[in-house]
Amino acid sequence: MRFEISKVLDAIEGRLTTDPKLARAVLDLAEVVRYVDFDGGRPATLLRLGMVVDALGRQLAEENVPVYVVVHRALLSDADLTSNERMVVRRWADDGVVEVLPNPGERVLEVADLLGLPVLSRSRFDNAVGRYPWLADQPGRLLAPVPAAGGPALVAQVGGGHEPTSAAPSPVGVQLLGRMWRCPDPECSSFGSMRVGRPGGQPPPTLRTGMPTCPRHDERLTDAGHRPRAELLSVRIDGMVRRRFVVAADDPVVVGRAPEGGGIILGQWLTDEARRWISRSHVRFELQGSELVAHDVSTNGTGVRPGGSTDDDQRETLKRQARPLGPTDVVELYAGVQIGRSRLWQTGGVANPTSVMAEAPTMAIRIADR
Ligand SMILES: [Zn+2]
Repeated sequence: MRFEISKVLDAIEGRLTTDPKLARAVLDLAEVVRYVDFDGGRPATLLRLGMVVDALGRQLAEENVPVYVVVHRALLSDADLTSNERMVVRRWADDGVVEVLPNPGERVLEVADLLGLPVLSRSRFDNAVGRYPWLADQPGRLLAPVPAAGGPALVAQVGGGHEPTSAAPSPVGVQLLGRMWRCPDPECSSFGSMRVGRPGGQPPPTLRTGMPTCPRHDERLTDAGHRPRAELLSVRIDGMVRRRFVVAADDPVVVGRAPEGGGIILGQWLTDEARRWISRSHVRFELQGSELVAHDVSTNGTGVRPGGSTDDDQRETLKRQARPLGPTDVVELYAGVQIGRSRLWQTGGVANPTSVMAEAPTMAIRIADR
C-alpha cells in the first residue's frame, strides 16, 4: 500500500511548480489537505492535493497542469500527516517545487495577483477584496474545490460557473518578473545564487514589506539584472494539449521521441507510425534575440505550418535548418503532432486528463482514522 501511495506522491510532485510561466492556479496546501469531505478519511492527507490537481486538469481539459503551492511551515511538523507525508513535503520544500513560508498570510492572493492566476480555496477572502478587487469582479479567479460525483470539482465563488480564469500579470507583477532577484542565503531554493537548473523560472518576490523580499527567508532581495526572456510553448497531439514547456534565452529545449540528455519526451503519446517517424531528438527550440527559432535535428525533417495553416500546400519542411517562428506559426513533427505558443490554443481539448491518482487504490484514499 505504501508503495502505491509514494508513487501517487511522485506523480503529484510532477505537477508542482513555482515557475510563473507554468503555474495554472495557486493554492494553500495546509487548507487543501484537510478537505475531509472529499473522502471521509484521515484529518489530513497529501492525497487530497492530487484530487484538487485532477479537478483543475478536468476543468481546463488539459494534461499535466501544474499548480503553485504555498505551504505554511507548521505543516512540516503537523501530526495529522503521516511521517512519510511530512518527509515528502520537506523534500518538495528543499527542491523548491513548493513555497514554504513561516507566515503565509495573504501570499496565495499576492501570487495570484502578481501572476494573474486563479486561486483554489474555500475561503472567500472577504477582507481582502479591497486590495484584490478581482476576487469579487472576475468570476473564475476564485474557485472552491468541492466534492462532486466523479471526483472533486471547482466551483467559482463569484457568479457561479466553474471555468478557471487567468488574467495578465498585474503591472507590479510585470515589473517584478522582468528582473532576477537574489536572496542573501545562497542556498535559498527560490532566489539563491547556488540555485541551478531552472533558468527564468524564479517565483515572484513578496512585497509584504513594501520592497521585494524573499518569502521564505523574510530577507530583502537584491536586483540581479534582467530576467532572460522566455516563451511558453505547448505540445498538442491530435488536438489535445499534453503539456507545456518554457524556452528561455539561456535554455534551449529539445523535443523528440526521447531526447538524449533531457528535453520534452513525446514517446508516450505517439502512435506506432508517429514513433517510427519522429527522431529521438527531433527539433530544438531556442531564443535568439527576440526571436523564437525552431532548429531541425531529425532524420525525417520538421514541418512548419505558417500561421497554423491547415493547408498542406503551405506546409514547409526544415531539413537540418533553423527557422524563426512567427507568433502563430505551428511546428509539426508528424501529422497531428504539433508545437506552438501556448496562447494559440485556448482549450486543452482533453475530455479525461490522466489522473495523478492513477496509482492510488481506493483503499489507500479511504484509510480510515484507524
Ligand atoms: Zn530566500
